[in-house]
Amino acid sequence: MRKFVVALCLAFGLIFGPMPGWAQDRIRVVTTTTDLRSLTEAVGGEFVEAVSLVPANFDAEEYQPKPQDVLRLKEARLVVRVGLDYDLWFDRLLEAARQRDLRRGGEGYVDASFAIAPLEVRGVAVGPGDGHAHGSGNPHYWLDPKNAEFITANILEGLARIDPLHAKAYESNRSAFLARLSAKLTEWEAKLTQLRTTPVVAYHNSWPYFARRFRLDFIDFLEIKPGVPSTPSHLAGIIEKMQARNVRLVVREPHEPERDVAFVAAKTGASVVVLATSVGALPGTGDYLALFDTDVAALVNAAGSR
Ligand SMILES: [Zn+2]
Repeated sequence: MRKFVVALCLAFGLIFGPMPGWAQDRIRVVTTTTDLRSLTEAVGGEFVEAVSLVPANFDAEEYQPKPQDVLRLKEARLVVRVGLDYDLWFDRLLEAARQRDLRRGGEGYVDASFAIAPLEVRGVAVGPGDGHAHGSGNPHYWLDPKNAEFITANILEGLARIDPLHAKAYESNRSAFLARLSAKLTEWEAKLTQLRTTPVVAYHNSWPYFARRFRLDFIDFLEIKPGVPSTPSHLAGIIEKMQARNVRLVVREPHEPERDVAFVAAKTGASVVVLATSVGALPGTGDYLALFDTDVAALVNAAGSR
């Protein structure tokens, strides 16, 4: 009897192909971050299956690729990266995966930063001892929700290139997403009006795009330079500055060390606000729109309790 059932299942599989729900017919997309995964899902909808290499709540600028990442790339039809030197480690992975179409310039390669105007571009190259992050300008551009228009345009172009049959569906998915985003943006801007020009200090400088959109004022950072941890004298300077400007809010990302942030907050009586910079880094940040919903709510809440 058992043999018969096995034979029947095999026959069924041969005739009807893979069992439903296996998603084998979907376009496999590998993104470097969870934010790009979420935006890829918004454009690709039911036709794509996207995975992020960097898990939520990890510092993507410090990510160490894993052997299984190469395997994931071997199964991928499309890759989507942040670019702007944010995910430089991805180049080594692409090299190791030996997938011609996924390489820079290949039809399955998407640099999501294409057409984004980077902020904080410096005239001099980054050398040793000058910090090791933010070499080509500040790379945290997805934190201006308006930049999702460019990001999703780049993703749309990539998906339409490898899957032209569904190009129309991708286009209408993107339009529907941008309509939702636009309504949300109005809501977020209204909620954050009360924080305009409020001076804020943060651990890492992830914030210029977010700050420009919502007119917040990040006056300094606990890191000496992006990727370079603080020293006691730097912290002393920050505390002085916070007292002089009456800074009441210190921003920390969930993966960042608590100690220095707690120290300057305690010395100045400021509140610590934990904000997510990536989808999935905090409860309630399950997708790109929810990320901003959660951060905006946290900021409004912190401003109210000052
Ligand atoms: Zn950074």
